[in-house]
Amino acid sequence: MSSIAVVNAGSSSIKFAIYGVADAPTLRLKGLIEGIGATPRARLSDAGGGVLLKEDLPPQGFDHAAATQTMMRLVAPWLDGHDISAVGHRVVHGGGEFAAPVVLTPESAERLAAFIPLAPLHQPHNLAVIRAMLAAHPDLPQVACFDTAFHQTQPPLAQAFALPRKYAADGIRRYGFHGISYEYVTGRLKALAPEIASGRVVVAHLGNGASLCAVMDGRSVATTMGFTAADGLMMGTRCGAIDPGVLVHMIDQYGMGARELEDLIYRQSGLLGVSGLSSDMRTLRAADDPAAKEAIALFVYRILREIGSLAAALGGLDALVFTAGIGENDAKTRAEVAAGCAWLGLELDEPANLRGDLTISAPDSRIAVFVIPTNEELEIARSVMRLMSDR
Ligand code: ADP
Repeated sequence: MSSIAVVNAGSSSIKFAIYGVADAPTLRLKGLIEGIGATPRARLSDAGGGVLLKEDLPPQGFDHAAATQTMMRLVAPWLDGHDISAVGHRVVHGGGEFAAPVVLTPESAERLAAFIPLAPLHQPHNLAVIRAMLAAHPDLPQVACFDTAFHQTQPPLAQAFALPRKYAADGIRRYGFHGISYEYVTGRLKALAPEIASGRVVVAHLGNGASLCAVMDGRSVATTMGFTAADGLMMGTRCGAIDPGVLVHMIDQYGMGARELEDLIYRQSGLLGVSGLSSDMRTLRAADDPAAKEAIALFVYRILREIGSLAAALGGLDALVFTAGIGENDAKTRAEVAAGCAWLGLELDEPANLRGDLTISAPDSRIAVFVIPTNEELEIARSVMRLMSDR
């Protein structure tokens, strides 16, 4: 038996997981290297979350390449002879080119660099780890899985902006994100309730980043995120959809530059900005502050408005699926969203919702409602296995 490493690189951290592969991937190790560029440290745990090691790392010159080497060094003693036979990378942007996971070559990895301007906050870090891996382990297959790929099935209208045509040719269009999560969740729905999965479904990925996806017969037809992961729903620290005129006003009247606007819409807004307290739903739920309640109310209101929009894109709605940190764990948010969907004939089974059961709709609800925990790492590991067996 061998192992697959799954890597999710962010600006200052690398999350990774090691799966044993036999018939299906089985989680063996999970790890995190954080504080890259500041005070780097590593943590490794077993499949059950038991901590195996914690290590402070030398800050001098510790970049994503060093973090990649550190990851390989830290996991080696715990592989029990199940050497890593392939690596799967979460890559935020596959542009208009990549509609499915691919085995990377140095050339195709360089093609991913063309999408850096489309995702400047994520793509360079994804790529730094891929380049480090290709250089240090040229014989180890590297697979890229894209957050945009699941949405490539969307009809042209759903991908378009009403801007002058020439900008579309430069790649300025709606792409959509969280695709690896949507792929996993729709796969689970298909296994659990195939007749419902073949209908009109909205999946609500509600975590720090949040988006909705309209899925028809397992394929994305519309989503709330667009050119960037800043569009659509209100999120932990992102404002989501905003009148574009506001941004022009900020430039004119507040003298803001591009970096300041970026900081405003990605890091200072959302639940954090409106509450003035926290981006974390648990903290807001526990707070007595009216601004915290207002932040949650706006979060739910934006979800309801966008569910209406996606139901229109689908021509109706058969099922609603909640996933990610808030969707999986916060029964109150689910209940508030469900209450706002009563006009669609959606009715919750309250005790099932409080328990967080897989099915939380009442038996005679016109819309089936599910809670399906997402698992992006497992989805990547499966894609790697599939591609390796095709080789
Ligand atoms: P990320 O997008 O970083 O992967 P997650 O999917 O982990 O985010 O979601 C993080 C969000 O989930 C936070 O707002 C957090 O407060 C919320 N969350 C996690 N557990 C709970 C819980 N038990 N109740 C309410 N909210 C929760």
